[in-house]
Amino acid sequence: MPRGIYVRTLQNKINIGLASKGRKHSKKTKNKISEIRKKNPVKSIYKKGDNIGNKNWNWKGDNVGYDGIHAWVHNWLGKATYCSNDKTHKAARFEWSNKSRKYKRDLTDWESLCSKCHRKEDAIYRKIMKKYCKNIRFILQGQNNG
Ligand SMILES: [Zn+2]
Repeated sequence: MPRGIYVRTLQNKINIGLASKGRKHSKKTKNKISEIRKKNPVKSIYKKGDNIGNKNWNWKGDNVGYDGIHAWVHNWLGKATYCSNDKTHKAARFEWSNKSRKYKRDLTDWESLCSKCHRKEDAIYRKIMKKYCKNIRFILQGQNNG
């Protein structure tokens, strides 16, 4: 069958695939492939570990949003499983809470809290901020928008 004359339909392609199923490359062909691969090795531009954190093209640094930084903390510290205030606290879920409220990329700045304590701390923080900062609403909005 001459090549390049007939239009191969999808069914043709499937048939060809089925017909060559189980067919193995001969030693000669294998050598050919191996020679070509040696000449043109497939190079990844990344070494293992090169693509983590601030080396990643998608790294947003300190411009990361609320969701992004929580995903980052979860990635490194895993799931929050206890309450730092009181380890006997039981909760359906635990959350990572940022101690400094600055959402820094610093794993020591995060603590695992039960959702009850987390809400409490957030409430205290908001009260303090309301007292000292008239622009609290503006700040909180900015945080939510990331
Ligand atoms: Zn708690």
